Amino acid sequence: MGGYVEFYCPFCRYHEPELAIGHGSQARQYLALFKCDHCKTIGSAWVSEEGRIRCGNCYDTEITLLPDETQLCVCPRCGEQGSLSKKQGEWS
Ligand SMILES: [Zn+2]
Ligand SMILES: [Zn+2]
Repeated sequence: MGGYVEFYCPFCRYHEPELAIGHGSQARQYLALFKCDHCKTIGSAWVSEEGRIRCGNCYDTEITLLPDETQLCVCPRCGEQGSLSKKQGEWS
């Protein structure tokens, strides 16, 4: 089962309300959180079996993976500290 997190930056109010993470029915692939400094977003994207991941927006491969349990993350928009919090709900 996968879950959802949201990202919110109180400084610039950048908000990603629903980012899916974790394993669904696909055993070998999973959705991981990333920060992309190229298009300045926080998102989630599929990690391939080889451990490769691309930004879901600009397809850049030079992105920073964030562990599922990350709670504080530098905002890609303004550079201040934003927060990641778990949300209710599951997906599969
Ligand atoms: Zn910000
Ligand atoms: Zn990007």
